[in-house]
Amino acid sequence: MAGFREECGVVGVMGDPEAAKLIYLGLYALQHRGQEAAGIVTINETGALQGHKAFGLVGDGFTADILSRLEGRSGIGHNRYSTTGASRMVENIQPFSFKTSLGSVAIAHNGNLTNADQIRVELESQGSIFQSTSDTEVFMHLLAKSTQAQLLDRIVEVMGKVRGAYSLVLLTKDRLFALRDPYGFRPLVLGRRGDCVVVASETCALELIDAEFEREIAPGEIVEIFSDGFIRSYYPVQSPRKAFCSFEPIYFARPDSQIFGEEIYSLRKRMGECLARESHVDADVVIAVPDSGVPMALGYAAEVKLPMELGLVRNHYVGRTFIEPSQSIRDFGVKLKLNPVGSTLRGKRVIVVDDSLVRGTTSVKILRMLRKAGAKEIHLRLGSPPITHSCYFGVDTPERGQLLAAQQTVEQIRDFIGADTLAFLSPEGLRQALGASNAGNYCYGCFSGDYPEATGQKISPQPTDRLGGPGLKAGF
Ligand code: AMP
Repeated sequence: MAGFREECGVVGVMGDPEAAKLIYLGLYALQHRGQEAAGIVTINETGALQGHKAFGLVGDGFTADILSRLEGRSGIGHNRYSTTGASRMVENIQPFSFKTSLGSVAIAHNGNLTNADQIRVELESQGSIFQSTSDTEVFMHLLAKSTQAQLLDRIVEVMGKVRGAYSLVLLTKDRLFALRDPYGFRPLVLGRRGDCVVVASETCALELIDAEFEREIAPGEIVEIFSDGFIRSYYPVQSPRKAFCSFEPIYFARPDSQIFGEEIYSLRKRMGECLARESHVDADVVIAVPDSGVPMALGYAAEVKLPMELGLVRNHYVGRTFIEPSQSIRDFGVKLKLNPVGSTLRGKRVIVVDDSLVRGTTSVKILRMLRKAGAKEIHLRLGSPPITHSCYFGVDTPERGQLLAAQQTVEQIRDFIGADTLAFLSPEGLRQALGASNAGNYCYGCFSGDYPEATGQKISPQPTDRLGGPGLKAGF
């Protein structure tokens, strides 16, 4: 069925004869947002769409030859990752291209529509035929079905119908549209490269192609981009509040990006500082779980004036382990990915900083590895509160039954993963790191179960119990 969860990156370019190459580079910078498949669609002067899609990394799926065949001055691209078996269907690789009575359209979406299943059932009962299992196809069908004479009005109509998270780029013969849901769950930024306009999930994509960051697309905004670089904004949908995903600054976004009005690296360091203030223990050295734990560990070490050392070396030729869809490969992946540095660890009391604990698989293995390498004491510090609930707005967290903190107390988790002490950043600490003026603009649903709008799911108050115990409660 529709609505499987996926994490993605999107790019859109308007007004450069080498649009496909710029999109390729943008996707390269956004590779961390999805490593399972990538696609690029451009549109040439006759209005014909041409595209290429491939499983795997952007660098593997596209050659110079392929890129030179993707003609046109405008185009969009997409990186994706999802967990269900359906993820391996080529039909699910975006951008999606389709024909409407107003011409050809291509679409690339980051986020998750929470009422996609419901709309899909309605559309199917009216005769619509779906080709993929993606929620994004619902958006396409609604656009194609609308009777509005202008595409912009159709987009406005669809935004009124869909719920959930969408940062989305949409390409037509002479326009590029960029839109963001009214809560602003996922990031979307706008930049310029001379007369060429670039839209991307994160600013790191703009930087790679020398585009100057202009601003973020606002929650609820549609930006209509014309071929000469002129842009026009519309704000057709409103929400009672903003709900930026707090997991973007914790884990997902690249530390050199600027999103949600903040520099991610600074936010992450602040999370480490807050963590240290809340739960420091006497130790000899601070190490990070690379790469995502590094800025937090730097913040932590600076706060307590301890040396930060390289305790784990990452093999950069393997992808993110979590990104692999099946558990067996994920288990193998941790060993492939990280190796301990004996001289940092032998006989030492070590503080290990990671950004988050999800299933606990990574921590169990890393801690075992550190002990074997000679660490005398291991104090695990997590730069985010316990994840107790799934995300329905575009981060791929597993079902509650697989979330360790949904079932165990901190003490049980400490025992399970084999740490001497264990502490999570508190909800207050996270809010403090995000900043008093901005903390209220975030979604903390995965830590609290308190979502800014309906998730479209029946959520059981208690997870299916894997290991016993009531789980943790967060106080946001
Ligand atoms: P786990 O082993 O399931 O506890 O996963 C925790 C590790 O996975 C941490 O080191 C995180 O950096 C990383 N991680 C957390 N959430 C995600 C996600 N949504 N996608 C990929 N990696 C993640």
